[in-house]
Amino acid sequence: MTTTVGHWIDNKEVPSTSGRTAPVYDPALGVETKRVALANAAEINAAIASAKKAFPGWSKTSLAARQQIVFKFRELLNAKKGELAEIITSEHGKVLSDALGEITRGQEVVEFAVGMPQLIKGYYSENVSTGVDVYSTRQALGVVGIISPFNFPAMVPMWFYPIAIAAGNTVVLKPSEKDPTASIWIAKLWKEAGLPDGVFNVLNGDKESVDGLLHSPDVESISFVGSTPIARYIYEECAKAGKRVQSLGGAKNHMLVLPDADLELVADSAINAGFGSAGERCMAISVVVAVEPVADALIEKIVTRMDKLRTGDGRRGCDMGPLVTKEHRDKVASYIDVAVKDGAKVVVDGRGVKADGEAAGFWLGPTLIDQVPTTSSVYKDEIFGPVLSIVRVKTYDEGVALINSGAFGNGTAIFTNDGGAARRFQNEIQVGMVGINVPIPVPVAYYSFGGWKQSLFGDTKAHGEEGVHFFTRGKAITSRWLDPSHGGINLGFPQN
Ligand code: NAD
Repeated sequence: MTTTVGHWIDNKEVPSTSGRTAPVYDPALGVETKRVALANAAEINAAIASAKKAFPGWSKTSLAARQQIVFKFRELLNAKKGELAEIITSEHGKVLSDALGEITRGQEVVEFAVGMPQLIKGYYSENVSTGVDVYSTRQALGVVGIISPFNFPAMVPMWFYPIAIAAGNTVVLKPSEKDPTASIWIAKLWKEAGLPDGVFNVLNGDKESVDGLLHSPDVESISFVGSTPIARYIYEECAKAGKRVQSLGGAKNHMLVLPDADLELVADSAINAGFGSAGERCMAISVVVAVEPVADALIEKIVTRMDKLRTGDGRRGCDMGPLVTKEHRDKVASYIDVAVKDGAKVVVDGRGVKADGEAAGFWLGPTLIDQVPTTSSVYKDEIFGPVLSIVRVKTYDEGVALINSGAFGNGTAIFTNDGGAARRFQNEIQVGMVGINVPIPVPVAYYSFGGWKQSLFGDTKAHGEEGVHFFTRGKAITSRWLDPSHGGINLGFPQN
């Protein structure tokens, strides 16, 4: 009998009563392995009520006692993360090493949150007016909602709940219905760590559950990560209801390659950032912008590397797994036809890939498309698959203007050995996360994290310290200090 992933309410797994479910696949096998419950109004209300009931007790629990539980959660997570990685691979499809990588990045936020006694401190000013002192405190909000996407079933929820819980809030997490089991596993871990009933709830479902959270007067804030149209909807609905909101959307990330760049490093980086997790990353590189005359030599190096990549079941030590569903695989593959129709040149076509896995798996091999017109939907849309486009430009300025004209502003990177160009780029580029010789410049937990434009609505922070940054636009720079074996010159910031 097929199992149905239920909800987690009041520290118990609760079976579905709504009669509505959705399929969960093992993408490498290409078969439905489970169903997931889609909550109805009664279940949505029960999850929110559980969190609401738990809030007074949890928020009044001493910081020291809360910290012990967060510490314990960290230790358990660290000891058992292999189990979680297997769950991720079996529902998302990404290879096991990549699943472990996402847990490690999420764990950074748990480790950040164990510093809550320091992070939550207020300020005190003495004698601001004669005989008058002023002090500020930070207080937990109440019930907070988290709505997460399929592509990082462990890491993205972990951007939020460690901080929310450590600060004294209670949580209702609505994970993606495509890979829901990781969140139930996490809920069990919290229970094992000693978290009281109702502090962490998992509500599985679809739009009905999301709307239930958005429209409940008992939910104080929403943290959302997903595609841009839904991110915008979440932001608008939260604004109407007067809720706090951080709503992170989609992306279309470019990597600008200057002619002086170390092409071995560029080719490695394009492969890793274009095809890692089968391109299903919000920080995936989707477009290589090659400043001529670099394109031909670079393409040759990328293709040589693509020939060596093994696409297949993530449990078999392959480099790249399948796409999350057949529907998504077919949609991504359809862009290859569009590219041909729009006059681009398909250099490597992933549709013919011989995958190391079951024939029914949702396979699409790494695909490289050259001379993609910037008017084509292949250039403009977030494809979210292993399809890497090359756009050729004549100058650095043309490349920067192209990147800045895009609708999204999540991540970008420049590859160059010229420190001056790198410094200019970090100043001129209108994107939230910027890499210098780093293709996926996701900063560590305690820095601000988030894109610009249609990649983020609302607050500028996914995690990290709030405060003055709320009123500024964050830009995080990640730069690689090149090893001499990688072409020389160290890329520090100019000293003048
Ligand atoms: P999605 O927008 O389809 O789904 C995200 C969440 O919203 C899910 O929990 C889903 O159940 C819910 N949802 C879907 N349709 C809805 C609707 N009509 N009304 C209300 N809720 C709805 O996104 P996805 O396909 O799961 O994830 C991939 C997207 O997430 C990509 O666009 C990717 O770039 C983005 N993403 C962004 C970041 C970032 O940091 N900016 C990080 C990870 C993923």
